[in-house]
Amino acid sequence: MRDLFPLGKVWMTEMAVPAFYAAEHLTMTMHGHVVDQDGPLVIVSAGMHGDEICGLEIVRRLITEVLPHVQRGGVILLPMMNVYGFMQQSRYLPDRRDLNRMFPGKKSGSLSSRFAHMLSQDVFAEASVILDLHSATLSRTNFPHIRYTDGDDKAKQIATDFAAPVTLKVSSVQGSLRAWATKQGIPTLVYEAGEALHIDEASINFGVSGVANVLRAMDILPGGKAPITEETSPENATTLFSATKWIRSPEGGMLISAVSIGQHVQKGQHLGHISSPFHIRKSPVKSPVSGVVISTLTCPWVNEGDGLFHIAYAAERSRDMRLDPIETARV
Ligand SMILES: [Zn+2]
Repeated sequence: MRDLFPLGKVWMTEMAVPAFYAAEHLTMTMHGHVVDQDGPLVIVSAGMHGDEICGLEIVRRLITEVLPHVQRGGVILLPMMNVYGFMQQSRYLPDRRDLNRMFPGKKSGSLSSRFAHMLSQDVFAEASVILDLHSATLSRTNFPHIRYTDGDDKAKQIATDFAAPVTLKVSSVQGSLRAWATKQGIPTLVYEAGEALHIDEASINFGVSGVANVLRAMDILPGGKAPITEETSPENATTLFSATKWIRSPEGGMLISAVSIGQHVQKGQHLGHISSPFHIRKSPVKSPVSGVVISTLTCPWVNEGDGLFHIAYAAERSRDMRLDPIETARV
């Protein structure tokens, strides 16, 4: 794909996507700047889910802050892949499928499958590295963190360079872009931050600086490798966790939370309680592990079994960990 565009110029193009009933000529926008055919090509994608707009804003800022300064290889930016869902403020595609369960897709399959096939074959197949930007689903928010696949050492190094507050070693879901691209040998990382249909400045700032950190480390941007290691910048170094646990609601009711995302909690610590909406009964919720809260609810109503808190634990390093809450996140 990179040879379709003029070398050494910032470009923008519209790519036709499979038609749906309300728009015969729907397009997906791409921005790019490729300075040579042989260097690494990094693709930064957002809007796999059409209601996740923090990634859209991260990419929008990268267009002006990063693209003009590419000095090696190339960078391609996709502000909103799922343009169908974006128009309807929906996570899904018009056939109610999740695009991130359809990779690599089929040329003659369903609309979702055709779209995934187009993306995998015509866009992502040429990537050297993929950075895929996401947010939590509605009524839930994620502390900024980056995910890489266990056993992929290149992806682990890129995650370290990205320097999000938290790095997670987690397996990918079958049918996801990360699962497919990793099998193709393309290091693929997922950045998770913020909430669907919400703009969150800290999540956006960590995303913009993380992508720039990776591009500097790969010498695609000038400035060299950002000095973000435990030795050079302990307050900004990422903490790598190798396990996560969902704390689920013991009953239906209203969550009264005692912790916030980004907070470090101890095993046995009181995380909050579930109040019965019409009675005085309440049930405490405690943490079964020591770790960091990486996701929680923004709407307090919960059903029995709903995920209340997602906690990353089993830190790779044993140093005294102090993660700033999101309100004080660095920019
Ligand atoms: Zn998503």
